[in-house]
Amino acid sequence: MLELKNKVAIITGARRGMGKADALLLAKAGAKVVVSDISEEECQQVVDEIKNSGGEAMAIKCDVSEKEEVDKMIKKTIEEFGRIDILVNNAGICQFKPFLDLTEEEWDRTININLKGYFLCGQAVAKEMAKQKSGVIINIASIAMGQVGVGFPAITHYCASKGGIVAMTEAMALELAPYNIRVNAIAPGAIDTPMAASVKDDPKVLEGTLNRVPLRRMGKPEEIASAVLFLASDASSYMTGSVVVVDGGWLAG
Ligand code: NAP
Repeated sequence: MLELKNKVAIITGARRGMGKADALLLAKAGAKVVVSDISEEECQQVVDEIKNSGGEAMAIKCDVSEKEEVDKMIKKTIEEFGRIDILVNNAGICQFKPFLDLTEEEWDRTININLKGYFLCGQAVAKEMAKQKSGVIINIASIAMGQVGVGFPAITHYCASKGGIVAMTEAMALELAPYNIRVNAIAPGAIDTPMAASVKDDPKVLEGTLNRVPLRRMGKPEEIASAVLFLASDASSYMTGSVVVVDGGWLAG
């Protein structure tokens, strides 16, 4: 049920971190993978890794906050692979900045990439999926999604974007269900990727973080990828509008 043979998957922000782990695992499961990010050269390295393991993949440069680039990515994918079955909306940024110092430009940049980018990619892909009456969209949110009682200081704009993603996921799931398109979100906790380097590299911050994680460690990108594979596959065929939390127990604490 976890097999993705003949499926075509687009993963944004896939040159490194969780997106790269998703690309490698979905390719291993048989999907043809579009590895997309703002640096095509680094995407190509991931593509080479997939091809060297016998998989099929293609690199496409795409800034998810630019509609024109998103539309080009969809067009190129259809031209090369003929269809789109899976979208992993993963590209994101996380800038630490105290609320009182946050500028309008910084707010806009985060919202444009983390939230508008998911809308642009989600809508463009859903239009293709609606024609074929099937598809799966996976939105990578975060435990910083605004759950009551769980706040995260110095990343107000990031929290706003991730809360927006969860709200958007539910609305998309309702509207796209008649087209047999499933839309789910994943809320990762602290995952060991370049984005979380500032947590990992500062012993005090790391200790403070791990104190909130019952499993007492950061997660690995591969541990998010396995949730992505589950949601991308028929193993989750009755799931839509859900938020899957993968956080070592953080939110339960
Ligand atoms: P990462 O290692 O920084 O990877 C994110 C990738 O997205 C980077 O290659 C980044 O490139 C790219 N990106 C940034 N802006 C983009 C744009 N406009 N268009 C296309 N690509 C863009 O981070 P990660 O930890 O793997 O994060 C993946 C997702 O998980 C993000 O949505 C993040 O918010 C979420 N998440 C992460 C954690 C965590 O602890 N790591 C926890 C919860 C949720 P640049 O580096 O050049 O910006």
